[in-house]
Amino acid sequence: MAEPKSYRMLIDGALVEAADGARLDSINPATGEVWATFPAATAGDVDRAVRAAHRAMTAGPWARLTATQRGKHVRRLGDLVAEHADRKAEVETIDTGKLLRETRGQIKYVAEFYHYNAGLADKIEGATLPIDKPDMLVMTVREPIGVVAAIVPWNSQLFLTALKLGPALAAGNAVVVKASEHGPASLLEFAQLIEQAGIPPGVVSVITGLGDPCGKALTSHPLVARVAFTGGPETARHVVRNAADNFAHVTLELGGKSPIVAFADADLDNTANGVIAGIFGASGQSCVAGSRLIVEDRLCESLLKRVVERAKTIKIGDPLDAATEMGPLCTRGQLDRIQEVVAKTVAAGGRLVLGGERPAHMNRGWYYGPTVIECPSAELPAVEQELFGPVLSVLRFKDEDEAVRLANDTNYGLAAGIFTNDGAKGLRVMKRLRSGVVWINTYRAVSPIVPFGGYGRSGYGREGGVEAVLDYTRTKSVWINLSSQPMADPFVLR
Ligand code: NDP
Repeated sequence: MAEPKSYRMLIDGALVEAADGARLDSINPATGEVWATFPAATAGDVDRAVRAAHRAMTAGPWARLTATQRGKHVRRLGDLVAEHADRKAEVETIDTGKLLRETRGQIKYVAEFYHYNAGLADKIEGATLPIDKPDMLVMTVREPIGVVAAIVPWNSQLFLTALKLGPALAAGNAVVVKASEHGPASLLEFAQLIEQAGIPPGVVSVITGLGDPCGKALTSHPLVARVAFTGGPETARHVVRNAADNFAHVTLELGGKSPIVAFADADLDNTANGVIAGIFGASGQSCVAGSRLIVEDRLCESLLKRVVERAKTIKIGDPLDAATEMGPLCTRGQLDRIQEVVAKTVAAGGRLVLGGERPAHMNRGWYYGPTVIECPSAELPAVEQELFGPVLSVLRFKDEDEAVRLANDTNYGLAAGIFTNDGAKGLRVMKRLRSGVVWINTYRAVSPIVPFGGYGRSGYGREGGVEAVLDYTRTKSVWINLSSQPMADPFVLR
């Protein structure tokens, strides 16, 4: 076996080890073997990165750049991501098990997120206000919010980082990115592009380490003004508590248990493809996975037949192979948890329509086959819990009200799909769904131009679109007395 690849993290412009030299292993989920190692940052390393970011924002050249100049650096970063996309994609695939054809496509598109935000850098404007006082000019100035802590999970690290780093840099901030302990390699390789993009040392650091101490130290740091977190709700609770001590502004992109509502009048092929893309794309390891199919009684049999027929032909295998359609899960822990929840769901009355087991031909790695469970009640574990795997729960409905009730019967609220050929019905149902994103007759589309974020347990704040950039600024209100007369004595009544 080849010697594991050794990565270092980026702090204050230098590629470094952790202060105490500690390292963590990264396991290739397709083989179950260690393929790389990376530093386990201590609280001291985090402190160095945050202080460097603070210096860069207050005293460094970054603080003196015009917004247009800043935008050029962000654009260059996007260009570099596009140029190096193939290499980064391969690394992300080995590190996380996500298919090479998915990582390639996604990372090429990541460049667009930097380009979009680069264009916004010099369009962040203040205002002059029609003030209700005589002889007064009042204006608002938008300033960078401060040091940003960006925390990302293991799936789609470059993409989820771009959603935070692009707008944060465009708005003039400095950022410390914490990669996940599972699959940080593509982000550590990305870190090497920062200098090439002309971004001064300290403006972006990329650190790796465990949630505790590394993530904890970062979100608790008194110099961090803004936390942008993507991950699970349990971790988010810690993050919010830690950030609250310093009153840091927090946005949370959390998980989902997203419904796909399929009406009997929908186009069968389109709906089946939407369902398959929603739950078997990325092996279901997507925050927007359409993990609950809520299907009209009359359509259920024909739609399930179509979905199962296609799911049976999904080619499961090496994620680096261009012909593979589904790769492994990212971690052993996930595989164990999914197996447990599926078993409990079946024991509680779920009817296994497909799968529920590891594919027989894959004798190593964390593989799990496409699984479909018809559920007589919404109270079964696979219907309620986010599984982050290729497991589709199916619930039937009889009318529109029941469809909406079932779709909204979750604490999450990230995404939802509606499939119908009745335009008015699609819009009616869209208005009633408690969800940050609704796709009608399509699924899993994203764009830098469109805000993205959830309701309820799926978090708060929006990434993407113009509002995301503004969310990395704060407003200063400036009052200017235009009068040639002195201010009135405050204690003399007039
Ligand atoms: P986790 O919540 O376990 O981890 C997310 C990140 O938080 C990781 O970098 C993790 O580090 C870090 N972390 C862990 N503990 C702490 C702490 N105490 N303080 C600060 N940071 C900490 O999520 P997963 O990695 O399991 O990712 C899957 C989750 O992410 C799912 O719920 C999924 O739905 C959600 N997600 C949401 C998306 C969205 O845009 N809404 C997109 C993609 C995923 P470490 O890895 O070292 O533990």
